[in-house]
Amino acid sequence: MKILILLGAPGAGKGTVAQYLAENYDVRHFSTGNLLRNEVKKESDIGLRVKDILGSGGLVGDDIVNEIVSKNIGEVLSTGSLIILDGYPRTRNQAIELDRMMSGSLKDEIRVLELAVDNEVVVQRISQRRVCASCGKTYGPQDKIEVCSCGGELIKRKDDEEAVVRSRLEKYEEETRPVSDYYADRLVKVSGEGKPEEVAQRVDKTLAKFEIKKRR
Ligand SMILES: [Zn+2]
Repeated sequence: MKILILLGAPGAGKGTVAQYLAENYDVRHFSTGNLLRNEVKKESDIGLRVKDILGSGGLVGDDIVNEIVSKNIGEVLSTGSLIILDGYPRTRNQAIELDRMMSGSLKDEIRVLELAVDNEVVVQRISQRRVCASCGKTYGPQDKIEVCSCGGELIKRKDDEEAVVRSRLEKYEEETRPVSDYYADRLVKVSGEGKPEEVAQRVDKTLAKFEIKKRR
């Protein structure tokens, strides 16, 4: 049993790596965002609380996120696949709570892969990014096209403007640096710079070190 936590600033390429892992390894994705949305849809107790908080423009706190994780992680752990945690733990408190949930030796099965990308590279990547207005597919500077493959218009999102990106990076640093410090002895840093296939090679090497086998 292995749990892999993906850490990385916005624009570091976590989404691309997660997709690569899904295609090449026997993995189960554990997304707290999806779990939250499911609870809201089911209108469960937690779901209704989340709906209230979001409806009033608030942020879902550690206590609710931890509650949702502890409610669902047992089922996921019983599948025997490599579990990828994406977007969780986001704060040091969540990381401590996750260790508490993983009774005994399970704690040692947690490994952390942090995608490290220089801030200037992220700013460049994101501020050159365009998104399809109809299907949401993202395009980089290497895509010299004006229209999405689905026929949709390519636009620049407000969130992708340089000033916004810089403030998101600052916020990430403030919130998540303590998480990677907490995991120092279980963490490997992988450079997220360069071509996707170069990053993929580094990821393969790191997972081999963790004794996680690629799917054949
Ligand atoms: Zn499209």
